Amino acid sequence: MTFETLGLSPALLRTLADAGYTQPTDIQAQAIPLVLDGRDVLGGAQTGTGKTAAFGLPLLQRLAKATPPNGPRKARALVLVPTRELAVQVADSLKTYGRGLRLGTTTLFGGAGMQPQIDSLRRGTDIVVACPGRLLDHLERGTVKLDAIEVLVLDEADRMLDMGFLPAIKRIVNRVPNDRQTLLFSATFEERIKGLALDFMRDPQQVQV
Ligand code: AMP
Repeated sequence: MTFETLGLSPALLRTLADAGYTQPTDIQAQAIPLVLDGRDVLGGAQTGTGKTAAFGLPLLQRLAKATPPNGPRKARALVLVPTRELAVQVADSLKTYGRGLRLGTTTLFGGAGMQPQIDSLRRGTDIVVACPGRLLDHLERGTVKLDAIEVLVLDEADRMLDMGFLPAIKRIVNRVPNDRQTLLFSATFEERIKGLALDFMRDPQQVQV
């Protein structure tokens, strides 16, 4: 299995070669073609399996395919994560994989000043990586808009539920268009994760490593 056969663009293939990724991981091989196909994907994968690239690469490819050349940008992808550490890590990965694609990423988490986040949102961004609490704060202040979101990712969904984020997630998802692609990653598939999938996803394809 190679990244070429998964359907990734030449720009992303070059970046992967530069990063020294020679072969897709299991979760990448399973998830990337489905995500590129526009399907909702329920992924069972822990940290360290390469799950960030499994959703990040096809997400970047989708966004890069139809970037408005000029004008103000609206966030088209939202990645929800449980912790500030994961937010920073996921945003860094997206910036690395998206090098040369001219897509902007904004990271929103608590325990940091609002103003730099507001400034970043105001300048226009393509991807928002956020912890639910802080994102809700921005939504309530009207400093972020989610009406142009095309792809919603719930990363480490089980940890977000453990941390009590379900009410926040529900309120956030209510503000995201229904006509979207939803990707959910979780280390486990217990009932509450299946409940999330039922509530938020359309005919999800399940992949697991
Ligand atoms: P993640 O599970 O997304 O946190 O990724 C775990 C680590 O694996 C990260 O440091 C990635 O840079 C790395 N990684 C992801 N995919 C690949 C791959 N196909 N080949 C080599 N390293 C990878």
